[in-house]
Amino acid sequence: MPASPRAIFLDRDGTVIEEKDYLCRVEEVALLPGAAAALGRLQAAGFLLFFVTNQSGVGRGYFTMREVEAVNAHLLAELARSGVRIARTYVAPEAPDRPSRGRKPSPQFLLDARDEFGLALEACYMIGDKKIDLECGWNAGVRRSILVRTGYGAREEAKYGPALVQAVVADDLAAAAQWILAQGEPAAAPAAEQSGPRGAQL
Ligand SMILES: [Mg+2]
Repeated sequence: MPASPRAIFLDRDGTVIEEKDYLCRVEEVALLPGAAAALGRLQAAGFLLFFVTNQSGVGRGYFTMREVEAVNAHLLAELARSGVRIARTYVAPEAPDRPSRGRKPSPQFLLDARDEFGLALEACYMIGDKKIDLECGWNAGVRRSILVRTGYGAREEAKYGPALVQAVVADDLAAAAQWILAQGEPAAAPAAEQSGPRGAQL
């Protein structure tokens, strides 16, 4: 029986593109250095790639869902120029104080992807620059959540240190991809954590 596909769930702002508060214009989209190549390496290793992004600027009335979709379409086209294909982009547009089906740290979009794409979440990874990204992955039962130090990452690491002890911390997406690719395929039965409480400091 073929193995279930594996996936990487990616926060968008501060992880794949530069963090710009409430980014809503196509001209503001700037891939972080090495990000496209890193995603290409993960894709070549057989990972499906997903964006999972909170866009509370919609719920706060700062910009529209149409603008979010234009930014996402532009980003996907930029990545496609490097041969990178994003399987699905999940957006939670609600303000933080409003009910939301998928706003991180909810794992709902990862569960949706699992159901639609037949993923084994225990073999998947979540990468983001905020604690809520890591929690989203943990809530879904992914193999590891990885904090990148780009965007808000370094600040979040300093602010929440002990609460992030289960996370792998990497300087950027390229370092996160390198760490993932060094892990190899998971054992048939989910193994115990491979190393100490903090898996790696890159
Ligand atoms: Mg972010």
